[in-house]
Amino acid sequence: MSREIRADYSQTLMFPPCVEDWVPANHPARFIREVVDAMDMEEMGFKMSEGDDGRPHYAGDMLLKVWLYGYCNRMRSTRGLEKACMENLSLIWLTGNNAPDHNTLWRFYRDNKKAIREVFKKSVRIGMEANLVGMVLHAVDGTKIQSAASGRTSLSKRQLEKALKKLEAGIEEIEKEVEKTRSDEGAAGWALPQELSDAKALREAVLAGLEVLREEGVKNLSVVDPQARVMKTQDGNRMSYNAQAVADDESGLIVAADVVNEANDYHQLAPMLQEATRTLGGLAAEENLADAGYDCPEQIAAAAQAGYEILLPMSAEKGDEFHTVNFKRDVERDEVACPMGQTLKFERERQSKSGNCALRVYRCKHGARCARAAECTKDKRGRAVELSPWHESTQAQLMKQRDPGKRCKLKRRSKIIEPVFAAVKDRGGFRRFTVHGLENVKTQWSLVCATCNLMKLYRQWLAGKLKITPAPA
Ligand code: SF4
Repeated sequence: MSREIRADYSQTLMFPPCVEDWVPANHPARFIREVVDAMDMEEMGFKMSEGDDGRPHYAGDMLLKVWLYGYCNRMRSTRGLEKACMENLSLIWLTGNNAPDHNTLWRFYRDNKKAIREVFKKSVRIGMEANLVGMVLHAVDGTKIQSAASGRTSLSKRQLEKALKKLEAGIEEIEKEVEKTRSDEGAAGWALPQELSDAKALREAVLAGLEVLREEGVKNLSVVDPQARVMKTQDGNRMSYNAQAVADDESGLIVAADVVNEANDYHQLAPMLQEATRTLGGLAAEENLADAGYDCPEQIAAAAQAGYEILLPMSAEKGDEFHTVNFKRDVERDEVACPMGQTLKFERERQSKSGNCALRVYRCKHGARCARAAECTKDKRGRAVELSPWHESTQAQLMKQRDPGKRCKLKRRSKIIEPVFAAVKDRGGFRRFTVHGLENVKTQWSLVCATCNLMKLYRQWLAGKLKITPAPA
C-alpha cells in the first residue's frame, strides 16, 4: 500500500520563498509584465498618480498589469480583481504581493480611459515590430454586444410622455408649495428644496430622451444607458452596442476596434478602415474584405477615394442585365451608355429620398427601335436611370465580383474575422458590457481587443518568435 499524501499545515520552509519564483518562466503573467514594463506610460497619456498628502500610492504600471491579466482571464469586475489579487498566485506575483482594492482599480480605469485605448494600439504595434501583421488581407465586421442596461430599464415614447406629464404635475405642486411657504415665512434664509431641483433634472433627462427618440426614430430608450439601442442579437432584441473590429489574416490580430450605437454596419466601412490605418501607423492592407452589411455606395466611394482596396459582396445586380449598375456613365459628356450600347441623355436632377445626395436622371429615346425595350422598362416615356455621385465606385466594385480570384478571396472574410469574435465572446466569455455610455463602452472594447491580441502575441513569445523591446530608460 502506498503512502497517502496529506497537507502538512505545520510545516515551515527552510528558506523564505522569493517572489520571482512564484510563477514559471513561460507563464502569461510574465509576458504581461514584460509588455507593460516596455511601455512608456507617461507618453501614452496615463496619469501617473503622486498620491495625496504624501501617502504611498499604487504604481500605474502595476494597476495596468492587474487589468490586463484580469481581462486575459475573464476577470473583469473591480471586486473580482480585488479578490483575485489576494487569492490568485499569478496576480499576487504581478502585484508583488500588494493587494489594490476595487476603488483603486476603478479610479485607475476611470482616470485613464483614453490611455487604456492606447494599450490596444500598442498591442498592434508589438505585432508589427515583430513582422507578424501581414498587411495583405484585412476583414472588417461588427458584432452586437449587450449593454450593461437591461431591457427592463427601457421606456417607449408613450411611457416617457406619461412620465413627463407626471413630473410636470409634481413640479407644479412643489412650486405652489414653495410659493406658499415663501409668502408665509418670508425670503430670509430661504432656499429651493432639493426635491424640486431633482424633479427638474429628471424632466430635462426625459425631454432629452424624447428628443433622441424623435431624431433617431428609435422606439425605446434605456433610462440607465441612454446611448444603448435595441439591436437584434443571438438572444433576440436587446439593449446593445455594435462593436466593430478589423482583423489581419496572417496574424489574426485585431488592428482596429471601435463601438457605435447604430444597429447596422451600413456607415462603418470608411471609418473602420481609417481607424485601422491610424493604428497601423499610416499603412493599409492590400485588400480589405467586408460583408454585405457594409454595402453602402457612399461608404464604398469614400473608402475607394481614400485609396483603400475593398471587396464586398453586392446585392445590387441580382443577375439583372438592365439593372442601373450596368449603365455606364461618360462623366465628361454627361451621358450614359445602356447595355445595348445606346446613349441616354441627361434630363434633370432630383434629390434622393434619404436627402443625402442629388441624383442625375438620364432618359432613353430609343425605346421604339429597341428589340429588348420590354425587358428594360415599362415606362412609356422611355427608360430612365437615376445615377448617384457614387455610381462609378459601385460599378468598379461589381466588376471585381466578376473576377473568380476576387470571389475566392472574398470567401476568406469569415475565416479571418469570425474566429476573432468567437475568441472574444465564446472563449473569452465577453457577451455584455459592464459599463454605461458610449465612451466607457469604447474603452472596454479596446481593452477586450487588446487582451485578445496579447494572448495571440503570448503564443508567439512562447515560441521565441517575439521579443519585447524595453522602453528607453
Ligand atoms: S430601352 Fe433604351 S435603355 Fe433600354 S436597352 Fe433599349 S435602348 Fe437601352
